[in-house]
Amino acid sequence: MKKLLFTPGPLSTSRTVKAAAMEDMGSRDAAFVETVQQIRDELLALAHVSQAAGYETILMQGSGTFGVESVISSAIGENDHLLVLSNGAYGERIVKMCTIHKLPHTVIRFEEDEITDPAVVRRQLEQQPGITHVACIHSETTTGLFNPIAEIGTICAEHNKTFIVDAMSSFGGVALDMRAANIQYLVSSSNKCIEGIPGFAFIIAEKKELLKTKGQARSLSLDLYEQWNGLEANGQFRFTPPTLSIMAFRQALRELEEEGGIPAREARYRKNKETLDSGMAALGFQQYLRPEIQGHIITSFLYPNDPNFHFEDFYQQLSSRNFVIYPGKLSKTNAFRIGNIGQIFPEDVSALVHAIGEIMEKQTATSK
Ligand SMILES: *Cc1c(COP(=O)(O)O)cnc(C)c1O
Repeated sequence: MKKLLFTPGPLSTSRTVKAAAMEDMGSRDAAFVETVQQIRDELLALAHVSQAAGYETILMQGSGTFGVESVISSAIGENDHLLVLSNGAYGERIVKMCTIHKLPHTVIRFEEDEITDPAVVRRQLEQQPGITHVACIHSETTTGLFNPIAEIGTICAEHNKTFIVDAMSSFGGVALDMRAANIQYLVSSSNKCIEGIPGFAFIIAEKKELLKTKGQARSLSLDLYEQWNGLEANGQFRFTPPTLSIMAFRQALRELEEEGGIPAREARYRKNKETLDSGMAALGFQQYLRPEIQGHIITSFLYPNDPNFHFEDFYQQLSSRNFVIYPGKLSKTNAFRIGNIGQIFPEDVSALVHAIGEIMEKQTATSK
């Protein structure tokens, strides 16, 4: 039976996207090389930039984290200093990368239920002129909040800092103009809002920044510059490419266009979110975040105030009805998460909410 994934990724994908991964494909085949180039160009267009405007796309094997680590471990030179803005597990993941690669860095931490405050960022940049790069998460999937990246980008531009954005769970599901937001490096992956299957990350970079990173990488396989250089030289990956995942991704891009592009996809995700919000509120569930900072990608719900509620059991019961939700990742609060992204539609969200209602009712009934 088909499971519906209400997770932050991998997500439910269409049959046609999965079918596109059914045929073997040689990594040096002209059709494959062309597909790689086409994907690189289309990703630029989705970010509202182009090669002519000075931007490049790099595809990197692995999950999204490999893409983020590729940028972090390649872009920060010996004499550079990275400011990491953290308000969740994904910000902390970048901090961990800095520690492992021994990169000069400073961290500003905000509470998990607060957005990154642009005024604090501005003050830090004024007080610490040695900072050269700033890294921030767009949609912090830990909670579902949206950080104000356009405002932070403006501040970075005013102070001439390189801005790195982990837009993993938002790219393709939220309108974003990379140049207008003053972003030099943007990272996302094949299996989030573009609705492909897992296999690779992609990085959209300002070429002038990318060229500075030559010879700077801390690892061979995640060397961003060399990965780009390889793709430019002969259209190929340096090491075994995720061929089938690439073929599925091309189909996913077609389906995104057929749906009406990012605006239409964003509208569908927002509708999913509204359906979820009203349904869960009617069942008495409370959200972790205040609505003003909550994005439409994923929502954290507090455990209900019921001693009979056990997440594992709740999860299993939903899973046996083919609804897959996600545990929480908050450091101090018990919550679970429900995603609105992937091949799921408002009627699927309604069905999920209905199932949650039934399970909760059964639980209450047995406890009486
Ligand atoms: C999904 C996600 C990642 C990458 O996770 P992987 O498991 O490596 O694919 C990174 N940052 C954010 C904000 C994410 O949502």
